[in-house]
Amino acid sequence: MNTSKSKEFIDYSWKQILDPLCEYIAIPAKSPAFDPNWESRGAIERAVQLIYDWCKDHAAEDWGVNVVRLEGRTPLIWIEIPGKGDSKVLLYGHIDKQPEMTGWDSGLGPWKPVLSGDRLYGRGGADDGYAVFASVAALKALHEQGIPHSPCSILIEACEESGSYDLPFYIDHLAQVVGEPELVICLDSGCGNYEQLWCTTSLRGVVSGILSVEVLDEGVHSGDAGGIVPSSFRLLRKALSRLENEKTGEILLDELKGEIPGDRIAQANLSGKILGQNVYKRFPFAEPCSVEEKPAELILKRTWGPSLEITGASGLPSLEEAGNVLRTQTSAKLSIRTPPQINAESAARAIRRSLEASPESGTRVSFSSEMAASGWNSPRLAPWLEASLREASNTWFDRPAVMMGEGGTIPFMGMLGERYPNAQFVITGVLGPGSNAHGPNEFLHLPTAQKLTGCIAQILELHQERS
Ligand SMILES: [Zn+2]
Repeated sequence: MNTSKSKEFIDYSWKQILDPLCEYIAIPAKSPAFDPNWESRGAIERAVQLIYDWCKDHAAEDWGVNVVRLEGRTPLIWIEIPGKGDSKVLLYGHIDKQPEMTGWDSGLGPWKPVLSGDRLYGRGGADDGYAVFASVAALKALHEQGIPHSPCSILIEACEESGSYDLPFYIDHLAQVVGEPELVICLDSGCGNYEQLWCTTSLRGVVSGILSVEVLDEGVHSGDAGGIVPSSFRLLRKALSRLENEKTGEILLDELKGEIPGDRIAQANLSGKILGQNVYKRFPFAEPCSVEEKPAELILKRTWGPSLEITGASGLPSLEEAGNVLRTQTSAKLSIRTPPQINAESAARAIRRSLEASPESGTRVSFSSEMAASGWNSPRLAPWLEASLREASNTWFDRPAVMMGEGGTIPFMGMLGERYPNAQFVITGVLGPGSNAHGPNEFLHLPTAQKLTGCIAQILELHQERS
């Protein structure tokens, strides 16, 4: 490709993308898990329409832009792009979003797109609304210069943040058209900095669910009952302590532990050298923080180690309303990240067994799992792909590409890895320092999105050349 022409074209494309991306950010298209009434609310539908219309407007004549709908499931955007040869490429992204979260800075908000310098703030811009725009722009950049690419399918789902439970049905439904992709490109991942191309070599899985401890049918005087009736909070704590060492955060269940492959340790050492203390300094700690462990060890902990967070609770009145009552129950929502190679379903069963073991007399302890999505470890990179990533990063970022695991989960990658064991994967994204997907002040780093678009175009070109 003529790089300066491509740069010009992609620069121009991103100027066109800004408006529709802002419109998209303004739509509260929360994933079904966070909005059970998503269908009647119509926000997901509005996001689908917006993206569909934009893709229709920008597609080349021979592209097929479709919305596929299976009864009772979130819709799927499906774009078929004819190409040269029979080796197929699948590009993936999603348009459903995480919920609002509190803590947005003044002037910012989840459904309020704000452009400030290089950053476009608002929910879903970086995770993962930009992906469809970037994919279309990358392919158009090739068309512009008459550069051939393999037949591509762009698949944009609306259920990712809920564990992609609708997606396998669509993949079955579309099996004929999808064929067996040789290359999968996923634009829903992270980057260690905004200075080079970061390729995700592994992802953790996630098990989430609700742990409930019930001790009474109605609340009673705490002075009357305390000492006889156990506190549901203590029992919850006790159950959690079987899962996690509360002093260190270490997860105790053997079923949630796995060996770290040697090549991943070597990659973590290299990423640790590049990132240094930024591995932890990028998090907004409440107080100045210094961590003893080496950056590489921290990288391995957040990518190959299990971890637990309590993401919500019920049964606890607000502080103003709390009286001296022995409460009936305490429930907590648990989010447990699991190592890449662990099967999430069996992890969920082990977690449940451990949490529900030997409840005290007269009490009920239950764990109901809501989501179990396995992690993923990338197959060995083919030499042509390794070379393409290097070249793309050098062209667009003027720095070498880096391989690193990510701590988050993209459920679809686990599914695809099992389904297409011979496929090669490029998993990358714009979720870098401070971008804060899932939290407040989420932003899309526009220069990175733009350079990534160029990298994708170049990888598609190089992929076709060797096919
Ligand atoms: Zn995402």
